[in-house]
Amino acid sequence: FDVSCAPILAQQKRLRGIVVVFHDITELKKLEKMRKDFVANVSHELKTPVTSLIGFTETLLDGAMDDSELKTKFLNIILNESKRLQSLIQDLLELSKIEQEHFMIKWQSVSLRDVLEDTLIILKEKAHQKSIILEVLPSSKSLALGDPYRIRQMIINLVTNAISYTPAGGHVWVQVRDTKDDVELMVKDTGIGISEDQIPRIFERFYRVDKGRSRNQGGTGLGLAIVKHLVEAHEGRIDVSSEIGKGTTFTITFKKA
Ligand code: ADP
Repeated sequence: FDVSCAPILAQQKRLRGIVVVFHDITELKKLEKMRKDFVANVSHELKTPVTSLIGFTETLLDGAMDDSELKTKFLNIILNESKRLQSLIQDLLELSKIEQEHFMIKWQSVSLRDVLEDTLIILKEKAHQKSIILEVLPSSKSLALGDPYRIRQMIINLVTNAISYTPAGGHVWVQVRDTKDDVELMVKDTGIGISEDQIPRIFERFYRVDKGRSRNQGGTGLGLAIVKHLVEAHEGRIDVSSEIGKGTTFTITFKKA
């Protein structure tokens, strides 16, 4: 609580009473803490790849260049860390744009099935490389209200995660379904799953169930935070059901056009 007091004075400045105002600043403090945590996280996430870029470049200049095997190994690390930095910067810029108060999507009637099929073309290769079968289940042709560019972004993030957190040989299914009043987009995998207590946290910026695994998959920890904001901008809903070791299903509900 933030407390402020003021005297109530009668004639000849005699004290008649005191006004005490209690101002509940819990929410304000919470926001301030979230902002500080975010800045600390961003700094850490940016510093880690930069430190390793400098370290490996210095080692190369100090003589590691002469060993051709080592040179290739270090250059690959430098390339991967640079790509991580690039994804992180892209996601940070995207999130900051989406989080702005006046962020608006371009509403139109969208065939979710068409956007899904277009988007999967670029994701099929990624799945194939990991020996994962990525399949579109028979889907509704219903039109949803939304922004095709943003819907594509949500599909990319959810399907990329499904591929990342599913062991080789697994399966990822996507489907558009009608409900009574809405249209749903489902992404289901046979992956590692998420425990019930972690589910509410996965939409937080930089929250990862397993930091090491996320890093290895090239994750920035921002994908689901972006999806959540985009779902909100669509006035939609996102639901998650999951079982450890069995798999996870994300379902986004859109308004029907
Ligand atoms: P990241 O870049 O780490 O994947 P996200 O914001 O996309 O960040 O996801 C947050 C965390 O949620 C991930 O680090 C992972 O622990 C968990 N997660 C997301 N999608 C899945 C999934 N399909 N299966 C299992 N865990 C998942």
